[in-house]
Amino acid sequence: MKALKERIQKDGRCFPGGILKVDNFINHQMDPILMKSMAVEFVRRFAGTEINKILTVEASGIAPAIMVGYLLELPVVFAKKRKPSTMENMLETEVFSFTKNQTYTICVSKDYIQPEDKVLFIDDFLANGNAGKGIMDLVNQAGAKLVGMGFLIEKAFQSGGNMLREMNIHVESLAIIKSLDNCEIKFKED
Ligand code: 5GP
Repeated sequence: MKALKERIQKDGRCFPGGILKVDNFINHQMDPILMKSMAVEFVRRFAGTEINKILTVEASGIAPAIMVGYLLELPVVFAKKRKPSTMENMLETEVFSFTKNQTYTICVSKDYIQPEDKVLFIDDFLANGNAGKGIMDLVNQAGAKLVGMGFLIEKAFQSGGNMLREMNIHVESLAIIKSLDNCEIKFKED
């Protein structure tokens, strides 16, 4: 998606270890106009897919997910990163965080992912696919169906994109980064 790639070139910052910071428009300050355009693009790309629920992980997936949910007029559920003591009926799974280098538990209430659900997962980044794998596990535990995954930014030099596509998951990424070597942002051609 051209507008996103241009914004990443303009405002994205590279950090050692293949990390891209987009705090200026996605992860800290947010640009709602771009966020809306990205959601419109997801709606276009998943137009042929039957979806009745959007699922994401707190916190950075919530903004794009709610934009997609708003456009499709569908409920948006976010998996929580801390298990609330008051919540029963939780499904949970472990996810390894590449940026924080630690494993954490994500959980979601069985009340909000049900066996009849057709779930679209939306997140900000796809790196090694650990969040995606965790979401697949939660959706499987619920007996629901995962119908696709949409990411704002995919880092193709990490393994998640290949892994998920080899599992026959419909993956859509709006900007695919080929390399961040020498802190130079290079995109995969469309
Ligand atoms: P994965 O689970 O695919 O290995 O990593 C994706 C998750 O890690 C995303 O939810 C995102 O929050 C975080 N992440 C991975 N790589 C980056 C990155 O380069 N920049 C930022 N800001 N977050 C990242």
